[in-house]
Amino acid sequence: MKILVIGGAGYIGSHVVKSLLSARHEVCVYDNLSTGCAQNLFSDAGFVQGDILDYPALLRAMKQNIDAVVFLAAKKAVGESMENPGKYANNNLIGAINTLNAMTEADVRKIIFSSSAAVYGLPEYLPVDEQHPTAPINFYGFTKLDMENYMNWYDRLKGIKFISLRYFNAVGYDEEGAVKGLEKNPQNLLPIIMEAACGIRKKVMIFGNDYDTRDGTCIRDYIHVSDLAAAHLKALEYLQKNNQSQIFNLGTENGVSVLEMILKAREITGKEIPYEFAGRRAGDPAVLLASAQKAQKLLGWSAVHSDLENIIDSTWKLYKPSAI
Ligand code: UDP
Repeated sequence: MKILVIGGAGYIGSHVVKSLLSARHEVCVYDNLSTGCAQNLFSDAGFVQGDILDYPALLRAMKQNIDAVVFLAAKKAVGESMENPGKYANNNLIGAINTLNAMTEADVRKIIFSSSAAVYGLPEYLPVDEQHPTAPINFYGFTKLDMENYMNWYDRLKGIKFISLRYFNAVGYDEEGAVKGLEKNPQNLLPIIMEAACGIRKKVMIFGNDYDTRDGTCIRDYIHVSDLAAAHLKALEYLQKNNQSQIFNLGTENGVSVLEMILKAREITGKEIPYEFAGRRAGDPAVLLASAQKAQKLLGWSAVHSDLENIIDSTWKLYKPSAI
């Protein structure tokens, strides 16, 4: 298939491109390189530097006999989405609507969409399955849910079939070292731990140690980005075979606490990684775990790269050269 990967120069997108290429799909990356980086582009894939807000450019890219779209282009910092909702509405919502309109115009009827556990909000039960009520508690999560709603309507009205992949906590790097670009200004836990291990930042602030968990710190379901990438391939195969829209959680059902992550990172890196307890971060549930039973059943997918050691080791390999 010929696949347009929108946001293909980003952290998750570049891993998705790698797995699409290894499955012999033809890939064209469409990315504005605002957070993605040129270092993440593969020579075997085409590249168009463009913005999802630039409709004519997007339509031109879509009119290259594209069979399916993988859509990963989005602003994703939760805190920023609460301070600057306009930026998130513009980029994430208008960008997604442009994509669906361009697909309609260019007669492209399949899309794999990057969604998030943030659509669920505070969990009412664990592990969270796809039937769990959706009640986002941050604007970023709202934009992801809204985009899913648009896709539902474009399915009904225009026959665009979608698979929405609700990622839990994406971590790790390609184990073969094929993806080289580090994220700029990372906001997530593991890159922050790595920066502390490298001496780029002084310490890790742990947001809350008074949660009702085994060590008082928050527990999350960390899923290796190569497992996420593999799920995109399976999702494409599913769409091709069944032509039916679906939503899937992608996680491991295993929880790791913030403190456990730091202690394991110390062990693997041999670095001190100082940390300090700080107050809770607004909107953080104590525990978030995915049920990925549906993906296992319908896609034949399960996480195989996501043990903690592998997650940290593959990330450290990239950060290590900058360690002092
Ligand atoms: N976290 C932390 N310090 C940091 C960044 C994150 O203690 O500097 C915690 C955060 O409160 C959450 C977990 O690490 O419990 C994972 O946060 P992240 O931002 O990576 O992902 P999220 O769960 O918000 O999607």
